[in-house]
Amino acid sequence: MHEASLILNVLDTVTRKCQEEGYKKINSIRLRIGRASGVLPDAMTFAFEITKENTLAAEASLLIDIIPVGGVCKACGNDFEIEENYLTSCPYCKATTFEINQGREMEIVEMDVD
Ligand SMILES: [Zn+2]
Repeated sequence: MHEASLILNVLDTVTRKCQEEGYKKINSIRLRIGRASGVLPDAMTFAFEITKENTLAAEASLLIDIIPVGGVCKACGNDFEIEENYLTSCPYCKATTFEINQGREMEIVEMDVD
């Protein structure tokens, strides 16, 4: 499972940061996951619950912000955000010359520590 290795990376990053700054416990971790990132939020949560044991994040909750796919069309100039995970043509003019500029992210936004 792709998400298991991603969550290990996340745990690794937050744990290291926590230790560097002298904190003892992670209360929550907030992630941004784009709909076009290929990462499944449910699978992330599931993997997190399993891997957090015996880490500084053992009691932490994982908060996930889902980022819709969005971009700008080069033909009509409109910005758009869509509900789907993928886009084949501009929702306004149906042109295929668009640029996706959000929805591919998978990143840590913030964490709450003690
Ligand atoms: Zn367009």
